[in-house]
Amino acid sequence: LHATRVTAMGQMSSAIAHELNQPLSAILAYAGAMQRLIESDDPPIADIREALGHTARDAARAGNIIRRLRGFVEKREPNRSMEQIAPMIADAISLASPGLASEGVRASVTVAPDLAPLFIDKVQIQQVLVNLIRNALEAMSEAEQPELKISVERDGENYVLVSVADNGQGIADEIAQQLFQPFATTKEQGMGMGLNICRTIIEAHEGRIWAEPGAPSVSGQRGAVFRFRLPL
Ligand code: ADP
Repeated sequence: LHATRVTAMGQMSSAIAHELNQPLSAILAYAGAMQRLIESDDPPIADIREALGHTARDAARAGNIIRRLRGFVEKREPNRSMEQIAPMIADAISLASPGLASEGVRASVTVAPDLAPLFIDKVQIQQVLVNLIRNALEAMSEAEQPELKISVERDGENYVLVSVADNGQGIADEIAQQLFQPFATTKEQGMGMGLNICRTIIEAHEGRIWAEPGAPSVSGQRGAVFRFRLPL
């Protein structure tokens, strides 16, 4: 029991660090910029005001993340109910990237008709979707025509299969074997916890998660497909 609790705490603190990294780096960058602006001979008030606005917004975001994560820890037992997964996808896309369309990313969602609801912890599965979508978007940051394809379909008698495909840089060889291990990352700012948390959640739901190279595309980029399946 103790070992389980220690593992859960380790995962929790890594998750917090992972989530907070981005707003904190942004706050640091804005603070540095403001310091430089104030030191100048004629400090540009408008720019400083704007940077302060961004700082406040990122600080609020960090606060929200902590509140959300706190809710996540307090709810120690998974809170499962019968849920349709399809409506959760649009929410996950906007959570992962509010400005998706304006960033030139084409997103398509295909959902098989008449899928039965799943017995899941909605918040946790939402977190898996957000993580996978965020990773896909990050992998496509250099892509000329970034395209995100999400599908939900029946997988045999007993499963539902969710796929998140991108046409980004593809999975780097050096990490392919450790994708789901904690702290495995190829990103400078990465924590390498996202996929590990995804796997923990999916396995707690008696499911399985894995990655595949994408189909070859005209642009030559194969991208990656992350899939998970959950029992009906
Ligand atoms: P992080 O995003 O902090 O690096 P993750 O556990 O979410 O942590 O991802 C681990 C690594 O898996 C990433 O650093 C990246 O190398 C690889 N990866 C994840 N998703 C994709 C993707 N869609 N395309 C290519 N590589 C990916």
